[in-house]
Amino acid sequence: MKNLHYDSLIIGFGKGGKTLAGRLAKEGEKVALAEKDSTMYGGTCINVGCIPSKSLINSASKVKCMAGREKQSVLYSKAVKEKRRVVEMLRKKNFDKLNQLENVDIYNGTAVFSGVRQADIQTEDEIYRITADKIFINTGSTPRIPNIEGIENTKGIYTSAEIMDLDVFPERLVIIGGGYIGLEFASMFASFGSKVTVLQDGEKFLPKEDDDVAQEIKSILEAQGIEFCTGLKIERVYEENNRPSVSFKLGGEDKVINADAVLVATGRIPNTENLNCAAAGVNVTDRGVVETDSMLRTTAENIWALGDVKGGLQHTYVSLDDYRIVASQLFGEKVYNASQRKNVPYSVFLSTPYSRVGMNEREAISAGYNIKVKKLPAAAIPKAQVLNGTEGMLKAVIDADNGKILGAMLICSESFETINVVKLAIDMGADYTVLRDQIFTHPTMTEALNDLFDF
Ligand SMILES: Cc1cc2nc3c(=O)[nH]c(=O)nc-3n(C[C@H](O)[C@H](O)[C@H](O)COP(=O)(O)OP(=O)(O)OC[C@H]3O[C@@H](n4cnc5c(N)ncnc54)[C@H](O)[C@@H]3O)c2cc1C
Repeated sequence: MKNLHYDSLIIGFGKGGKTLAGRLAKEGEKVALAEKDSTMYGGTCINVGCIPSKSLINSASKVKCMAGREKQSVLYSKAVKEKRRVVEMLRKKNFDKLNQLENVDIYNGTAVFSGVRQADIQTEDEIYRITADKIFINTGSTPRIPNIEGIENTKGIYTSAEIMDLDVFPERLVIIGGGYIGLEFASMFASFGSKVTVLQDGEKFLPKEDDDVAQEIKSILEAQGIEFCTGLKIERVYEENNRPSVSFKLGGEDKVINADAVLVATGRIPNTENLNCAAAGVNVTDRGVVETDSMLRTTAENIWALGDVKGGLQHTYVSLDDYRIVASQLFGEKVYNASQRKNVPYSVFLSTPYSRVGMNEREAISAGYNIKVKKLPAAAIPKAQVLNGTEGMLKAVIDADNGKILGAMLICSESFETINVVKLAIDMGADYTVLRDQIFTHPTMTEALNDLFDF
């Protein structure tokens, strides 16, 4: 065992951690960064999350006009190859960026706490016992595998990471879980030409969304050929004729569905199980989340947690903002904290993307606001006609008493870009008339905000 001391130790090569590593090094600190998996340099986003999924989604969007099985499978193979190219390129870029820094040491090994501000990193040929003045936990999260008979050992059952590496095109795909990740995959594989069925235990589709928004999204996905089964109970998964099958109970009836592949998309759990946080005095909730305060400090002095591992919203840009919170304490005005975080937008990259920021109608009413709501069909937007993407609708909620924007839900082409304009307007406390009267370029989807906010 080798004993070493650093100014800072970062556990996990996620977005917040890698950004912080670069910053600490720039500030003159000696930094150790532990990453347990050499295929994960750059973290989930680069390797098994945002980037590969969006690369595949982009390729899938181009398949639309092609028909025929041969072509679909060939296009799918090309898409997987292209995804691998992008991921490998970005992974290397992420690694090189930190590795070239003289005062950053990257350890390819699993870190486990072994004392107060002390962790052991088990690499292929050595154990490094590292003490550090500061430690940052950025270990991310992992797909949650539900307790379903046969799920662990049936061939053809995949997590989101695994299915993105599937070489054989699945003509028949079953997705367990109707959350945002499950729906992105449903839409993407349907665009490639798969016959997709989404199985969900809850009755309500996208329960966090307004009913009209959820219904619009569902209709668009159904028009893509995706089938939804809600309110069911999965009994077991098993192999039949070399293919996975899922048996479930729906309305008292026993049903079975066969597929070429089954994707399990039932949420993610924080990576703390084998971290031995207790040894460092870091409290973890019974759901495995590292407890932090608004400055992202854990219960142990000089240990912070960033990204998915600390619970809350799971997005790359949240992990990056966690970096800002920590950097503010270490090098800035020591003010910025999670309670000051303004509206966090999100996008679901469906064939017609859905993006949202702020409160929806239901939330605004239950918060006691006197509201006005405006809806606009996507077909009313000239750019939507140009793009031949007229499905969807846009919805805005404002405070009727003072004209402030409370939220927006955009189901339309390029909504993942447009939503950022609304986010900025809300954060700046703009009156709805600012978006109504703003000059935007034409023809763009963003210019639809002129009409959407014309109350
Ligand atoms: C399919 C999919 C699509 C997604 N799409 C989007 C999207 O479009 N936009 C978006 O913003 N977000 C998206 N997300 C979410 C986003 O990827 C995550 O929120 C984000 O990557 C989390 O980053 P992080 O900083 O918490 O850590 P991560 O990037 O998860 O990194 C943690 C790292 O720690 C390593 N590690 C874990 N334990 C140890 C240990 N003990 N020792 C050493 N190393 C360890 C892991 O191997 C991993 O590399 C998506 C996620 C998935 C799964």
